[in-house]
Amino acid sequence: MADEFKAILITRGDGDEQTVEVTTIGEDDLMEGDVTVRVEATTVNYKDGLAITGKSPVVRRFPMVPGIDFAGTVETSDHADWKPGDKVILNGWGTGETHLGAYAEKSRVKGDWLVALPEGLSVKDAMAIGTAGYTAMLSVLGLEDAGCKPDDGPVLVTGATGGVGSVAVSILSKLGWHVIAATGSPEKRADYLKGLGASEIIDRTELSEKGRPLGKERWAAAVDAVGSHTLANVLAQTKHGGTVTCCGLAQGFDLPTTVMPFILRGIALKGIDSVMAPKALRERAWQRLATDLDREKLQSITTEIGFDDLIPYARQIIESGIQGRVVATF
Ligand code: NDP
Repeated sequence: MADEFKAILITRGDGDEQTVEVTTIGEDDLMEGDVTVRVEATTVNYKDGLAITGKSPVVRRFPMVPGIDFAGTVETSDHADWKPGDKVILNGWGTGETHLGAYAEKSRVKGDWLVALPEGLSVKDAMAIGTAGYTAMLSVLGLEDAGCKPDDGPVLVTGATGGVGSVAVSILSKLGWHVIAATGSPEKRADYLKGLGASEIIDRTELSEKGRPLGKERWAAAVDAVGSHTLANVLAQTKHGGTVTCCGLAQGFDLPTTVMPFILRGIALKGIDSVMAPKALRERAWQRLATDLDREKLQSITTEIGFDDLIPYARQIIESGIQGRVVATF
């Protein structure tokens, strides 16, 4: 049929087993929304990996087109803010979870979910940044809004070679912070992290076991993407009055901490949620990404892939991880 286009579809059989395939769907298969977008670029996030492997119940409607973020061009619009030809970005709002997502050449969504592609960013740049990079910027804004500044002392980034961590290291170093990067591969990935602007690299095992309620004060602020004992140790080693942002659970979703960092050192823990972040905050984050992220560094950490590579890369991010960022263009 003429209006058919390529899509990845996750379906579920009578049991709980799921099937993932590259297929074609039509505009009639798209869900309700007031804007139809020609998807031109997407990426592979950890959450997309969970959806495609079925390892966690990310998908809450079947069949589902996975993919939690995209950039593209508006084709049709009944929304006052958007007209055909506008370049837009979408992340979160249940896309790829409850609403048909980014891994299709077209998507129909609510115009309220869209953000204008900032001046100076291409659709490819936007998805090289993707939800991971945008979450890194939300974390940086979380620190800034708490009053943290480079003169306060070092900032720690955990999960440093992952998507959120790599972009956070890059942005924070550009903003003048002394960045300490915690990674599981301190020797193998030292050149990579130093290239992004890390001043010091520490082995993540220093932080991954159960530690003391309070430790030596080592950093003034931290961006954590790891959770569990790592986050507990990060809090315990943050300088008096410091702020720690928390966005991820790469080690685990538990947080085995005590009240000590909070009541004896006045530490603040700021949660970061990219999915339901209000539009004004999203726009602020994307504007700052357009100005405060070194485009050459972004390119150096980005692997370019095609539509047919999305499924293997989504499996890889779960099985063995992906260094840096991946951008898929259609
Ligand atoms: P990645 O898989 O790219 O990166 C995670 C990094 O964490 C890895 O590269 C690794 O870095 C480190 N890591 C992995 N396993 C462990 C472990 N057991 N203990 C300690 N460190 C570990 O994921 P993203 O960067 O895309 O996302 C990071 C986290 O943030 C994920 O949990 C994701 O779900 C979450 N997230 C949350 C969002 C939100 O809205 N709150 C939005 C986007 C992501 P290294 O090898 O350098 O140690």
